[in-house]
Amino acid sequence: MPATPLSTLKGVGPALAKKLGKLGLSCVEDLLFLLPLRYEDRTQLVKIGALAAGARCLVAGEVLLSEVAFRGRRNLLVRIGDGSGQLTLRFFHFSGQQQAQFQPGAQLTCFGEVRRGSSGFEMIHPEYRILRRGRDAATDESLTPVYPSTEGVQQGRLRYLTDQALAAMDERPPEELLPAAVTAKLGMPSLADAIRYLHRPPPGAAVGELQEGRHPCRQRLAFEELLAHFLSLRSLRAMAETESAPALTGGRERVDEFVAGLPFALTGAQRRVVGDILRDLERPHPMMRLIQGDVGSGKTVVAAIACLKAIACGVQAAIMAPTEILAEQHWRSFAGWFRPLGIEPAWLSGSRKAAARREALKAIADGSAGLVVGTHALFQEGVAFERLALVVIDEQHRFGVHQRMALRDKGVGDNGHPHQLVMTATPIPRTLAMAAYADLDTSVIDELPPGRQPVTTIAVPDTRRAEIVERVRAVVASGRQAYWVCPLIEESDVLDYQAAEKSYAMLSEALPDLRVGLVHGRMRPAEKDQGMQAFKEGLIQVLVATTVIEVGVDVPNASLMIVENAERMGLSQLHQLRGRVGRGATRSHCVLLYKGPLGRIAKERLAVLRDTNDGFVVAQRDLELRGPGELLGTRQTGLPDYRVADLVRDAELMPQVRLTAESLRREAPGQAAAIVRRWLGDAAHYGKV
Ligand code: ADP
Ligand code: MG
Repeated sequence: MPATPLSTLKGVGPALAKKLGKLGLSCVEDLLFLLPLRYEDRTQLVKIGALAAGARCLVAGEVLLSEVAFRGRRNLLVRIGDGSGQLTLRFFHFSGQQQAQFQPGAQLTCFGEVRRGSSGFEMIHPEYRILRRGRDAATDESLTPVYPSTEGVQQGRLRYLTDQALAAMDERPPEELLPAAVTAKLGMPSLADAIRYLHRPPPGAAVGELQEGRHPCRQRLAFEELLAHFLSLRSLRAMAETESAPALTGGRERVDEFVAGLPFALTGAQRRVVGDILRDLERPHPMMRLIQGDVGSGKTVVAAIACLKAIACGVQAAIMAPTEILAEQHWRSFAGWFRPLGIEPAWLSGSRKAAARREALKAIADGSAGLVVGTHALFQEGVAFERLALVVIDEQHRFGVHQRMALRDKGVGDNGHPHQLVMTATPIPRTLAMAAYADLDTSVIDELPPGRQPVTTIAVPDTRRAEIVERVRAVVASGRQAYWVCPLIEESDVLDYQAAEKSYAMLSEALPDLRVGLVHGRMRPAEKDQGMQAFKEGLIQVLVATTVIEVGVDVPNASLMIVENAERMGLSQLHQLRGRVGRGATRSHCVLLYKGPLGRIAKERLAVLRDTNDGFVVAQRDLELRGPGELLGTRQTGLPDYRVADLVRDAELMPQVRLTAESLRREAPGQAAAIVRRWLGDAAHYGKV
């Protein structure tokens, strides 16, 4: 479909076009994909005697009585009857002209929600229409769509516009791009039929199915949209296959030596994944690989091995972490591993002083830094690599495809693009991974290092805080350490830090004999460092911290974690946090303190953590309970916005989406490209956005 400007529609001037633009509607065709949230039934008149509270109905009747009452506030009461019963219409805002319309004997139709009032059923501020004498009440021919809330654009206006868009579609139906065999197999209508049905369902349509997205017409659109996204990611993948990258064929001995020198043996899963990566790096095309592994599965050392191979081949590697503290921690781990080999990693983050930053930038630019660790500061302007050939991105769920691509573009220039390794500790359910990461090959570290004890998790109302404080005392008495985690308050560093200060004061007072420390996001890196280091060395026994410790921190002697306001946090985040304990040989515990009373979903969510230590199960349940945005961290995740599809609800379509995509790419690439264009327009290649 070529885009038709909105201004071709009747009633659309520049002002309205601007408002529609804010809703993401920039052409007539976009209107077709703005699907109603729900439907109202004005296709039949309901007898007043048959009304039920809560229903939204169309009623016709004769005005019996109209009066202005002053009960608390002035309101206009209009009583109507249709022979089967009586109904009161109540208006709080009305004009004299309106009041005059409701003469006894006047005929009208009204539509609204039926409520139980003081004297029988009533409707508050119904939509109504006075009928001319001798005219019958008119009913609609289709269900009435209610569109998503639309700043300053009335529903009636949207219906008028979609009417026009539908009429235009009838004249020039959209090209049917799905193979007939697929739609037949799935029992789905044509695109045009589906769109028409969704905007104007006939009387008697299955409203429940439509509203819940289970109707075949809805699925028809969701399917094509999922397919478009999948195809676009796949073509990104295929593009990488045609691009060149430096084939890093050397360095195997260096890697073997390094692995032999580690204080532990790699797990079977780590060895397998390392094998995948080393093979990828030796190919002359960019690696695009995702490593999934639960918290503590040992992804960092796998990344280190990849980096070492690159450095041994004389090129640069960069590792990007989502937070300062994690970047710092990686930098420290890598320095520990690599210094003995004569490799000094550079460190770049937003908080570094100008002089340190200049020095790092210089080492990055002249190639003397073989390895660079940093935050997203790495892909900002002014950072030029001498010969970047490997990019490792940790905790991918916090970065978007765009950011991934930006770093990629800092790559090796003449020699093509750098290799990419993406690591995530949020295990992603299979169907979602299929949709979100179709541009990546996947390896899974599905084994934890030996000797890990599962963490026992309990949920406790914060009214029992005193009991938990005693528990901290007992754990420390037995020679172990504890974390006391305070919630991260996203919008506010200040509140964040105040919550931690408060808990710190409370614990210091309750446990005067213990050494209690505090680490929060507002401290200077050196201070944070000091606090963490003191905890690591056992100088501090109880560490009060904000969720800055969510990832990366490694203190095996800590065997108890308390999380405050656990009900506010995401399941996967809690799972990450609790991964900070259970790293030693003793049995560890995690106490989720919550502020009651909890709703049903909140209860269920905490129960998930109590019942399982498996990050994949946690992720799957998180997805079901809260949706993919929450799991992957909403907008900035790089997970695209879907107009129709819902990755949880429509997940079951993914296997078929994949099959269809593969066959289209093989047999009808032109059609595949057209599907991508229809849904994603020019943004089709994320890398070019
Ligand atoms: P994550 O996958 O969560 O990033 P890390 O890489 O931080 O996990 O590893 C967690 C801890 O396990 C670290 O202390 C690391 O040194 C250790 N570790 C990694 N691999 C092994 C192994 N094969 N055997 C024992 N300990 C390991
Ligand atoms: Mg990690």
